[in-house]
Amino acid sequence: MKISTLIIVLPLTATALLAEDVQSTSDAGRWSKEKMQSHRPAMITPPGISTHEQAGKAPSDAVVFFDGTDLSKWKGGKKKDGKTLTWLVKDGYMEVVRGTGQIETLDQIEGDCQWHIEWCTPAEVKGNSQGRGNSGVFIGGYPEVQVLDSFQNDTYPDGQASSLYKASVPLVNASRGPGKWQTYDVICIREKKGADGKLIQPGSITVLHNGVVTQFAVQAGGKNKAGGLRLQDHGNPVRFRNIWARKLNVPAVAAPKK
Ligand code: MG
Repeated sequence: MKISTLIIVLPLTATALLAEDVQSTSDAGRWSKEKMQSHRPAMITPPGISTHEQAGKAPSDAVVFFDGTDLSKWKGGKKKDGKTLTWLVKDGYMEVVRGTGQIETLDQIEGDCQWHIEWCTPAEVKGNSQGRGNSGVFIGGYPEVQVLDSFQNDTYPDGQASSLYKASVPLVNASRGPGKWQTYDVICIREKKGADGKLIQPGSITVLHNGVVTQFAVQAGGKNKAGGLRLQDHGNPVRFRNIWARKLNVPAVAAPKK
């Protein structure tokens, strides 16, 4: 191409791109003012970023189940001599107390949802395989999302951190070392049926471990319409903090309506 041709073509291309961009802000052909109004996504405040020292704030549309202060939104523990023995709450986290049993949220989230959980296995390494930093996250109706110190700790792949316990091996091992705070973001899609009772979409679960996808739309669980969160006492002093959930309104068929 000659240099003179380039000089002519480039400004034309830039003008065409600009025209396209300007049109896309209104796109009057497809989006009337009323339709834009009724389809506009709700504005929310996104979550604060967690650091090792401090948990970030939940997003503004989340139901907060544990903000580091108390277990008022949880049930469970073990009754002994008229007292309920439960997990320890300290310095913004809760910690499994061996033998007190699992704890569970009082409330459930109905329908599709997103859960955020932060966890930390003991800095002092004890035990190996399934005996090292073992706990677990159970979202109503789905398999256990395994919590384990899987940093240089070999175990069966469908039982390591971020596995769906004995159901699905994680895509990668995204573990941080013992004593480091880690995150799970879990997206639960519940089974959807049409008016005729036929299955439109099966239930599925997607897991991000430390921001990395480790389970993607695995078709396991999701048959029930709602569920809370249960945390496992496996005898190891695993810590949890910053637990929240958001209800999702995901259409059964992802394609936009015309
Ligand atoms: Mg477990």
